[in-house]
Amino acid sequence: MNLAQLLVRASAIWPDAPAICHGTRQHASYQQFVHRAACAGGSLLREHGLARGDRVALLMQNRPEYLEALYAIWFAGLVAVPINARLHKRECAYILEDSGATVCFVSPELEAYLPERVSSVVTPGPAWRDMQAGSPIDAAAVGKDDIAWLFYTSGTTGQPKGAMLSHGGLRQMTLSFFVDVEQLLRDDSVLHAAPLSHGSGLYNFAAVQAGANQVIPASGHFDPGEVFGLIEAYPGAFMFAAPTMVKKLVESPDAARADTGNLKNIVYGGGPMYLSDLKAAMALFGNKLGQIYGQGESPMTITTLTRTMHRDASDARLSSVGVAQSVVEVKVVDEAGGALPEGAVGEICVRGEVVMSGYWNNPEATARTLVDGWLHTGDMGSFDEHGFLTLKDRVKDVIISGGSNIYPREVEEVLLLNPDVLEVSVVGHPHPEWGEEVVAFVVARAGSKPGEAELDSLCLDHIARFKRPKRYLFLEALPKNNYGKVLKTELRKILADQ
Ligand code: AMP
Repeated sequence: MNLAQLLVRASAIWPDAPAICHGTRQHASYQQFVHRAACAGGSLLREHGLARGDRVALLMQNRPEYLEALYAIWFAGLVAVPINARLHKRECAYILEDSGATVCFVSPELEAYLPERVSSVVTPGPAWRDMQAGSPIDAAAVGKDDIAWLFYTSGTTGQPKGAMLSHGGLRQMTLSFFVDVEQLLRDDSVLHAAPLSHGSGLYNFAAVQAGANQVIPASGHFDPGEVFGLIEAYPGAFMFAAPTMVKKLVESPDAARADTGNLKNIVYGGGPMYLSDLKAAMALFGNKLGQIYGQGESPMTITTLTRTMHRDASDARLSSVGVAQSVVEVKVVDEAGGALPEGAVGEICVRGEVVMSGYWNNPEATARTLVDGWLHTGDMGSFDEHGFLTLKDRVKDVIISGGSNIYPREVEEVLLLNPDVLEVSVVGHPHPEWGEEVVAFVVARAGSKPGEAELDSLCLDHIARFKRPKRYLFLEALPKNNYGKVLKTELRKILADQ
């Protein structure tokens, strides 16, 4: 079943319901949404001469038309290639080239990023409006294994790779959302404050499935003050946020006077949420936080720590990523691929229909990542006796010092207990005697500087002696990619350059 059928269905049931809002203004009802998508889809086939399976890129800030363009692509039976609008021109060019997209929906200010080979539809603009002029088409017949979305991974190392996500897989993801994450309802509103090219965009299907409203902030990006305003304006507000966004909301000067009564749930994920940050968020929002663990290769769907599971939870449970979602099997394996028992740390593997079918045009990387039907996530973790999974770190970030494994996250959690520490990231650095030594990069809160002795004794109070950092380096800010993920490769480079 074509994902565009979700929209056809919603429009049949709730034609006049608000479907997309821009700030506090309504942009489209469901009837308007489906009509624009079906017309633009027809234009992609007729005027742009595209045929089933061709790739169409989206290089746009969060805009209401983003959602319409996505569904236009699916109406026509084409493959969407969403590109994060904050990537470097070079990175965008790489994705356009790798995917072989020949048409791109592009924001006016990003048009210059497109190579000549790619024909642009500046959106919004006259070209986009012209696409609405023709007649609407029926949603193309596609198979469940046909690719709907080429999801380019954030690529904290190496070039991004296009995970092939199918119509059937994304349907599974959406059903799992309702079973495992949240019961979205028709009167709820999904706020897209995070890039539509990534997790937030993947949750559009749940909104359409429920007949809920989708709200694009007028600024087109994440602004804490604006988000608090939208939460006040929209009852049943739901949003997906990276942990760094949750932290920014909590630390925003607007937090103190915000009325979050309308908030239904903030689902966070995509990176580690530190316990001290989670507790601060729960103090502000109450029991309205849920967590998911996923990756582009198994979109939004590996584990879940629901709102209910956050309530009265122990620190250990709040530090976990929850339990396997219903549509996947999750196991932890050793280096030889053998399943490990509870309590043992190994690589996390996932199997299920939601998992990508492979990387676009990259059989070598596919063969390394999908082994006997199991996705190897590259993340380390362990299950407890109740089925709760605790993530350690990426396999390549684990520090081996004097023969022992040290998980940076554990050290980071401890250092964050110091109120003068705003952010921290721990990496390993080659050491002639120990193999690697532990180094902490610390960002201090404005106007304060925690002493090294203080940090050292904090570590001695909480973790084994050998795990404590041998060096502390203070930075103004941590290097991060466009999704807010800390770039440990950059930190290791700083050490190598010293
Ligand atoms: P991406 O494919 O860009 O979405 O990145 C996925 C990676 O982000 C995962 O493999 C994890 O390393 C990390 N990640 C995702 N969700 C979580 C979470 N809830 N807690 C910690 N790390 C996470």
